[in-house]
Amino acid sequence: MSGTRISATLVIDENRAIACAACGYALGPAGGPWKDAARLDERPMQGAGGAPYSNAERVLLRRFLCPGCGALLDTECALAGDPFLTDIVKV
Ligand SMILES: [Zn+2]
Repeated sequence: MSGTRISATLVIDENRAIACAACGYALGPAGGPWKDAARLDERPMQGAGGAPYSNAERVLLRRFLCPGCGALLDTECALAGDPFLTDIVKV
């Protein structure tokens, strides 16, 4: 996928859209939030990383996946109901 790379998994494509670097699926206009357009997989962190997370019942692991190809685009930890952590990259 050609374009200006803004992270390990995202590019700005020729239409000035944030897109998956693997398949080109457009997630939204450059300079704006993109996570709402991704497929969200949210699950408790408890046990996800072994013993260090054994008491993290309320902490969630959010995985943002490309709707086009399923590539993992980003992750974040959050409490249920927290808004997405928004990274705005201006190029
Ligand atoms: Zn993709």
